[in-house]
Amino acid sequence: MQRLMNKFKNRMRAMTEILEGPTAIATGVDRLTNGQLVAFPTETVYGLGADALDGHAVAKVFALKGRPATNPLIVHVSGIQMAKTVVAQWTQEAELIAKAYWPGPVTLVLTKADCVPGIVCANGDTVAVRCPAHPCALALIEAFGKPIVGPSANPSGRISPTTPEHVADGFGDVDLIVIDGGHCRAGIESTVVDLAGDISKVLRPGIVGAHAIGETLGKSVECVTQQAEDSVARSPGVVGAHYQPRTPTKLASTGLLASASESVVLLAWSTDVHPSGGTLISMPQDLGQYASMLYRALHQGDKASQDSIWIEEPAIGSTAQDQAIRAAIIERLDRAAHG
Ligand code: AMP
Ligand code: MG
Repeated sequence: MQRLMNKFKNRMRAMTEILEGPTAIATGVDRLTNGQLVAFPTETVYGLGADALDGHAVAKVFALKGRPATNPLIVHVSGIQMAKTVVAQWTQEAELIAKAYWPGPVTLVLTKADCVPGIVCANGDTVAVRCPAHPCALALIEAFGKPIVGPSANPSGRISPTTPEHVADGFGDVDLIVIDGGHCRAGIESTVVDLAGDISKVLRPGIVGAHAIGETLGKSVECVTQQAEDSVARSPGVVGAHYQPRTPTKLASTGLLASASESVVLLAWSTDVHPSGGTLISMPQDLGQYASMLYRALHQGDKASQDSIWIEEPAIGSTAQDQAIRAAIIERLDRAAHG
């Protein structure tokens, strides 16, 4: 009898379920329609989806993530046509960038349309919008027929998820489905470009750099993440602690790695690193591949339950593209480091 009761209780316990294929999309649409959450893959990281036009559903995203209400969400769309429904004005600059990079890892900040609930935009007058380059994300949005919010599907401040298992591990036993789209190719979050102010600027670096955005717009575009005051005002998500493993983590120069003890996890790309102790996780020298693997390596390092994680500073790139990716990686690593 007791065993039967336990079996029943286990069945009743909420759990995160990983689903694949057309059934996953259909179940996802059902859940979104009922105001529930659905974790879905994008080319950057896994997102925690909800109907972007339903304030109650969006509130569940903030609650599950433990995300401060002051940090606005990105609205995911299936293309330019849907993007136009959530902004007050689709500008010529938006058209140029969307045509050049969508579907892809570039988010545009524009003046919001009235239909977007205030909670999505932290009660500001702008909305961030992006069309993700992942077949599952596009299939989900198209089948749902409406935009969905999609912050990273992890507890606020922690390492972003790039596999369905990361999502399930992060939230534990909650009633959530994760659409399995494999490992995220780009591996770090989108470039956020602010087109709402007088001067266009990059608020968060990503795989697509400010230089490339500038070339698309035919003018110079700055990345302003270092200007703390402006960042607080325009993009609250790019300040403070973020991307953090539970294990104390530091950025280390190549020379320092040899002094690692048994209880250190090392993320290193140099092939000539021979630490006397510790657990080595080999990182790629190629910066695109490094970005793709970074969060997976941090999750793996955290799971090793050692005293600390040391990350070798990534290789210096030679091309403008490499330099952009490196800057985006460094922005994450600087904020992953703590303790
Ligand atoms: P996440 O979805 O967790 O990758 O974070 C979304 C990023 O987009 C954060 O850095 C937010 O601050 C930024 N963001 C979202 N909406 C806006 C907006 N309306 N204005 C400026 N930044 C935004
Ligand atoms: Mg996030």
